[in-house]
Amino acid sequence: MAETKEKTPRQRMPEQDPKVRIKNFNEVPQGFDEATARLEAGRCLQCKKPSCVTGCPVEIDIPGFVGKVAEGDLAGAARILKQKTALPAVCGRVCPQELQCEAQCLLNKKKEEPVGVGYLERFVSDWARAHAGDVVPELPAKTGKRVAVVGSGPSGLTVAGDLILKGHDVTVFEAFHKGGGVLVYGIPEFRLPKAIVQNEIDNLSALGVEFRYNVVVGKTLTVDEILGPEGFDAVFIGVGAGLPSFLGIPGENLIGIYSANEYLTRSNLMKAYRFPEYDTPLVRGRNVAVFGAGNVAMDSARTALRMGAEKVRIVYRRSRVEMPARAEEIHHGEEEGIEFHLLTMPLEFLGDENGRVRGMVCAKCELGEPDESGRCRPEQIGGSDFTLECDLAVIAVGAGANPVLTKATPGLKLNRRGYIVADPATGKTMMPRVWAGGDIVTGSATVILAMGAGRQAANSIHDYLTWGW
Ligand code: FAD
Ligand code: SF4
Repeated sequence: MAETKEKTPRQRMPEQDPKVRIKNFNEVPQGFDEATARLEAGRCLQCKKPSCVTGCPVEIDIPGFVGKVAEGDLAGAARILKQKTALPAVCGRVCPQELQCEAQCLLNKKKEEPVGVGYLERFVSDWARAHAGDVVPELPAKTGKRVAVVGSGPSGLTVAGDLILKGHDVTVFEAFHKGGGVLVYGIPEFRLPKAIVQNEIDNLSALGVEFRYNVVVGKTLTVDEILGPEGFDAVFIGVGAGLPSFLGIPGENLIGIYSANEYLTRSNLMKAYRFPEYDTPLVRGRNVAVFGAGNVAMDSARTALRMGAEKVRIVYRRSRVEMPARAEEIHHGEEEGIEFHLLTMPLEFLGDENGRVRGMVCAKCELGEPDESGRCRPEQIGGSDFTLECDLAVIAVGAGANPVLTKATPGLKLNRRGYIVADPATGKTMMPRVWAGGDIVTGSATVILAMGAGRQAANSIHDYLTWGW
């Protein structure tokens, strides 16, 4: 039996053809059908000590849910997933499984490809969405306690979902006119359809979570007011890390140079890509340069292609092995024709007579000793300067803590980089009745870590509301 399992190859997910998909914003991978999902699930060895679970930041019972798929009990599989992840349809699509559960799968040691845990998670959660009636959560009696959640990203949505299911009243305050945080205004439609996130928000609304949009906490309302006149018993802060970083080189304020944050928010929320002409809220580029090599950079580059760019380049100071983006995004970007200028350092942007960017001076680099991040430091090679032309540049070199809320909340303790100091096990901050989690505590991280932090904070808030500690 074990021999048969080992011989079944990892199942591939059908994908849109690269030539077709660069002309649309539809999702690239198309999902498994049930027969393929069961075949893939049948590859799992059902290990007694499953190393995949230790690789998962929220310790999903992976053999448990995969085993249910193999049996054809999809509702059972969905229930197991929901025990540990509030947004499995999102995690199945955007988690870096190749560094987490799949990296630890025992099949790797047997020189086979790991079980497609992410593909199966996506399959089960898509099935559950289509059969919502089969997996309805039960609501307990109301406790009369009120919790405010600031920010509707994955950490905030997790807190809201967990606490409404424990009988507390939950109100989410969101600065934007739409919920979902980076899942909606950052990650593009071709990687994570907006309808999936909206479905989760609709489910939370149906359970009784109230969403108040266009409320910038720290400006239109303060945390003290939420805990005082607004009458909430506890507050969770999950405002993310949305303050863009820049390169800090000459010419960076020329027209046509965007932070990735602004570029992606415009294309995601203003639906700029729906307008075929040039006069959209977003200036489209024909010749685009994107700086950085993480998920944000790959999303920007692939968005630029879909917005009609003829040439898109990733410019990165280190080499391919240091690129932080998910392996799948790099692979998809390559298939779509994105050029990679690795070991390349931008020195200065060049403008035309109208103040628009027309190119940049770059230098070639070689890698030196590791820096404080543990990665090899890029060092400029003297005399290697050259000019790259571009008419649109997107800076995707990281983001930091936005001070709008924290400045207006003096009771919070911040670290030297402006992130909120919170107990890693509970999310408790130094301010009574205030918890925090996600990117505003850890700095830019991942969806699953933000959700894990939200779950820990929800448990701690529930303990406080129930027992007073
Ligand atoms: P966020 O998702 O940032 O949500 C914070 C919310 O708070 C936002 O809705 C914001 O509008 C709101 N807010 C902010 N300030 C206020 C205020 N003062 N008042 C009220 N509301 C406020 N991770 C992965 O695991 N895989 C990926 O493939 C991946 N790709 C990414 C691609 C992009 C383009 C980006 C930007 C990030 C990506 N990440 C990815 C990282 C991941 O999305 C984040 O780590 C995660 O979203 C953090 O969740 P969060 O809940 O802390 O905050
Ligand atoms: Fe299945 Fe791999 Fe986990 Fe073993 S390590 S239980 S084979 S997914």
